[in-house]
Amino acid sequence: MLTVMKANFDVQQIRKDFPILKQEVNGRQLIYLDNAATSQKPQVVIDAINRYYKEQNANVHRGVHFLSQLATREYDDARVKVQRFINAAESHEIIFTRGTTESINLVAYSYGRKFVREGDEIIISAMEHHSNIVPWQILCEQTGAKLRVIPINDDGELLIDEFALMLNPRVKLVAVAHLSNALGTLNPVKRIIELAHSHDIPVLLDGAQAAPHLKIDVRDLDCDFYAFSGHKMCGPTGIGVLYGKSELLNMMPPFMGGGDMIASVTFEKTTYNVLPAKFEAGTPHIEGAIVLGVAIDYLNSVGLDRVAAYEHELLGYATEVIGAIPGIKIIGTAREKASVLSFTLDGIHPHDMGTILDQEGIAIRAGHHCAQPVMKRFGIPATARASFAFYNTREEIDALAEGIQKAVEVFNG
Ligand code: PLP
Repeated sequence: MLTVMKANFDVQQIRKDFPILKQEVNGRQLIYLDNAATSQKPQVVIDAINRYYKEQNANVHRGVHFLSQLATREYDDARVKVQRFINAAESHEIIFTRGTTESINLVAYSYGRKFVREGDEIIISAMEHHSNIVPWQILCEQTGAKLRVIPINDDGELLIDEFALMLNPRVKLVAVAHLSNALGTLNPVKRIIELAHSHDIPVLLDGAQAAPHLKIDVRDLDCDFYAFSGHKMCGPTGIGVLYGKSELLNMMPPFMGGGDMIASVTFEKTTYNVLPAKFEAGTPHIEGAIVLGVAIDYLNSVGLDRVAAYEHELLGYATEVIGAIPGIKIIGTAREKASVLSFTLDGIHPHDMGTILDQEGIAIRAGHHCAQPVMKRFGIPATARASFAFYNTREEIDALAEGIQKAVEVFNG
């Protein structure tokens, strides 16, 4: 299957869609391996931003004039594209936000305000990004609820049996990463959801890393909330999505107040708009949403199944080549992984590694990846992280291996 997929995947052709990849950095051809932080953008996306401001710009849902109606139509069409992209049942289950962070905060504030009380519990996991930790901590501080953490093993896999034991009637929500940005672990989210639902507990999935790499089907997963960011999936920054099941979103109070989210306002009482407007106060990121729709069209044209198969092969190759370098320790060795290779190297701090690779034109990330607790779990302050996209190549991985060897020569003689 994989061979067929590979044969169909012309990465050199795909690379032509991304103008930035032609750039030189420090006199070397750019090798961009920081895709978990943000992806690069294809020309169609760059052009769509330009086209929006040249031909479509107006505020949405307010005007009777041509441009406002055009912008409104495009904005609403983008919502339908997102709905289809993740197979949501209804377009009003798609709320546009600034990104994963805001999506999770929306649930923490709105669902939390309505349903979480003193003595209740919220469950997250030991491998979460700070944006799926801190909003829940704030909620717990404000309500007197308790934050509980699913432990992980030394490979960076969730201990599902332990999780099952943590479930009880006090748990009001489970919030876990679909794919870990720090370890690359692909979590068994369907199993997590089944277990939580058997206790009537809703589940939020942080899909920031999964949405760019895997075909997401929220109905098949049966998750209650799914959060992701446009900028990690070929779209612009400042736009993201919260998917929520209508029954839940309908029960939740507004997150922010302002224009567009109301049905009527008097000084005595305001009534709220229906979904999705109830959660989209003020002028939204119109261009961002429309261009996210274009990014989705682009990803669909490449094919998420082909992307996943190609990246799987690329990660396997990287794990083999980088893992073979003496002194390298791969952090995150789960059986199910995608797109992320985190590592440490004896005697070289990840920041120094990042700096030396930068001299070679190679962009990786060094640090705690906004996941300090998982670093603590592995007893390290930081890792170097190469994260892949479907426009990366085996040759770039070979260059990364050479760059790492250079760092070894500089630091370890
Ligand atoms: N969750 C995970 C797993 C992430 O990797 C990230 C970003 O790296 C986020 C959440 C936050 O995404 P954003 O900064 O786009 O809101």
